[in-house]
Amino acid sequence: MSQSGRLFIVGLGPGSRETMTPQAQQAIAGADLVIGYGAYFVGLADLIGDKETIALPLTQEIERAEIAVEQAARGRTVCVISSGDPGVYGMASLVLETAARLSDDERPDLVVVPGVSAVNACASLLGAPLAHDFAVISLSDLLTPWEKIERRLVAAAEADFVIALYNPQSERRNWQYARAQAIFAAHRDDETPVGIVRSAFRPDQQIQLTTIAGMAEAPVDMLSTIIVGNSQTRRFADTLVTPRGYLDSPREKSPAP
Ligand code: SAH
Repeated sequence: MSQSGRLFIVGLGPGSRETMTPQAQQAIAGADLVIGYGAYFVGLADLIGDKETIALPLTQEIERAEIAVEQAARGRTVCVISSGDPGVYGMASLVLETAARLSDDERPDLVVVPGVSAVNACASLLGAPLAHDFAVISLSDLLTPWEKIERRLVAAAEADFVIALYNPQSERRNWQYARAQAIFAAHRDDETPVGIVRSAFRPDQQIQLTTIAGMAEAPVDMLSTIIVGNSQTRRFADTLVTPRGYLDSPREKSPAP
C-alpha cells in the first residue's frame, strides 16, 4: 500500500448537473486539485470553490494524466474530470496506464467514478433505441487507423447492431461521416430511422430524427452523437424504439438448443 494520495477519474455526465452522479459531485468536492480540459470547468464553480485547478487544452491529455499521477503520488487528493463516462473514449485508460508505470509503493489509490455516457444520454432523449444489442463506434481516426474503423462499421452493419457514432465530424475530419453513411446505406433500408442529438442536456441541445438516406445531409459536428437503427427500430411519433421483443414473442421460453 502506498502512503501516497488518491486519484479519482471522474465522469461528469453529458452536461447538466442533474445528470452528474452524486458520487462524481462528492469526488470533486473532496479533492485538493482538479485537472481537466478548460471547458469542463464551466458550471462546476460551486463544487470547485477555491481549490487549485489545472486546465489544459484538448490535445494535452498525456500531460494531464502525468500531472495528475505525479500530484497524487505526492499525497494529494486529485480529480481528473472527463465528460460523460471517463472509461468511454475518456481519460480513465490513459491515467491508469500512466499510473501503472509507478511501483506499487509509489502508486496512488485509483478510483474510476462512472458517468452517464453520451450514448445513454442521447438514447434517452430519442426514446429507447438501444433496447437490444448495439455497438458504439468512434469515427475519429486520430489514434485508430481508418481501415480498422471501417472494418468495425461494416461488421456492425452486417450484424444488424444498432450503431451509435461518437466523434462524427470535425473541420479537419470531414469525409469519415459520409463514408459511414454509405456503409449503412449498403447494408440497411434507406428508411431505417436515425436520431442525431447535439449537446445533450446542455442549454443548446438539439434533437433531429431522420433516416439513413437523410443522415448524409444532416449537419453534425463534434458535439453530436448519431444513433442508427437496426432492422427492428421503429419511429413512433417523435421517438425511436428498438423493440426488445416482448410484444411479438410467445410467453413460453423456447427450449435451449
Ligand atoms: N467520455 C465521453 C465521450 C468522449 S468522445 C462520454 O462517455 O460521453 C466525445 C464525443 O462524445 C463527441 O464527439 C460526441 O460524439 C459525444 N458527446 C459527448 N457529449 C455529448 C453530448 N452532450 N451530446 C451529444 N454527444 C456528446
